Amino acid sequence: MFSKKTVKDVDVRGKRVLVRVDFNVPLAEGSVTDDTRVRAALPTLRYLVDHGARVIVMSHLGRPKGEPDPQYSLRPVRRVLQRLLGRNVVFVDDIVGAEAHEAVDRMVDGEIIMLENVRFNPGEKANDPEFAKALASLADIYVNDAFGAAHRAHASTAGVAQYLPAVAGLLLSREVETLTSMLTDPERPFVAILGGSKVSDKIGVIDRMLDCVDSLLIGGGMCFTFLVAKGVDVGRSLVEEEWIEPARQMMEKALERDVEIMLPVDFVVAEAIEHDSETKVVGREEIPSDMMGLDIGPTTSELFKGAIGMARTIFWNGPMGVFEMKPFETGTREVAMAVARNNRAVSVIGGGDSVAALKKFDLEERVTFVSTGGGASMKLLEGTTLPGVEALMDKDA
Ligand code: ADP
Ligand code: MG
Repeated sequence: MFSKKTVKDVDVRGKRVLVRVDFNVPLAEGSVTDDTRVRAALPTLRYLVDHGARVIVMSHLGRPKGEPDPQYSLRPVRRVLQRLLGRNVVFVDDIVGAEAHEAVDRMVDGEIIMLENVRFNPGEKANDPEFAKALASLADIYVNDAFGAAHRAHASTAGVAQYLPAVAGLLLSREVETLTSMLTDPERPFVAILGGSKVSDKIGVIDRMLDCVDSLLIGGGMCFTFLVAKGVDVGRSLVEEEWIEPARQMMEKALERDVEIMLPVDFVVAEAIEHDSETKVVGREEIPSDMMGLDIGPTTSELFKGAIGMARTIFWNGPMGVFEMKPFETGTREVAMAVARNNRAVSVIGGGDSVAALKKFDLEERVTFVSTGGGASMKLLEGTTLPGVEALMDKDA
């Protein structure tokens, strides 16, 4: 259960509401190339406008160095927001200065203004109390809807909450609620599919998953560290030496918990990671010493698809192979399709590259929930508290 107050628990009419969104979108030549994050913020922004709030939107974009840098201006995002909302959005080339205050003073109920990139101020990443106070002075209420940035304790994601009544937006609350209830109250069987490049990135998630799931399917680059722990010779495949022992401990924990860990039994191998690499399929005991496993093989796909088909709860993070390249995309596609086909299961997908894979195969609409937070969802799943959520008011307070 989500224990924090949301926009629906406070009276926003006629109030100046400062909303932190995650508009950290990809840009190319000054245009937004993927508007997913802007769309994700629409329910909260629409709710506020419909309830007569004066909405001040703020976000970060990219990694400017604490000073204005035109290539990271949020100005191009205004057009996108304006189009998606179907209403005028005023852009202010300022964050907490006189220009921002004047723009806020001119607002009427139901209006939206957008501030410039909060990371143009060095106080943002430093979580400087002075900058947080200055942000707070623009508004009467603070709303955090930036789930994708909630794992960072910055001025606009956490600090500002100390100086204003602070509540969650609809996206942030839904993200936290979906991911939390998946772990605490899943329909069984609960199958987690983990892949991606590194064990080191995901060890916390693997550990926590072993407390909740019935089966854990491991593919992607990370599976080789597990295979080495089992004594398999994996050739030149990606292995993290210092994570072999933790991987072995995870397999021991799985045994104790009666969780089935499924590792690939065959691979697509190649000498190089190229778009036109020559590939072959080999059993996992037959990986040539000069080759790398770059995708799960067809027998593994069938095994994984069987487990996925029987699940009632599915969590998927991390591609099964180097899905960005045609020769190594099949395993990820097969797994994604199996997840999409199982419409009796609640399916939750998290992680930047996994979501990109889902989009590439045009399956985004066919799963239950696509998390917008990469790092934030991983932190939440490994049990780390998110500063951007912690800072908000408790429901029963
Ligand atoms: P996510 O962003 O979904 O959490 P990760 O960032 O952990 O996923 O991993 C994604 C990356 O893992 C992709 O760029 C993919 O190319 C890479 N990858 C997957 N399988 C392998 C493999 N067998 N060897 C090397 N890299 C791999
Ligand atoms: Mg990634």
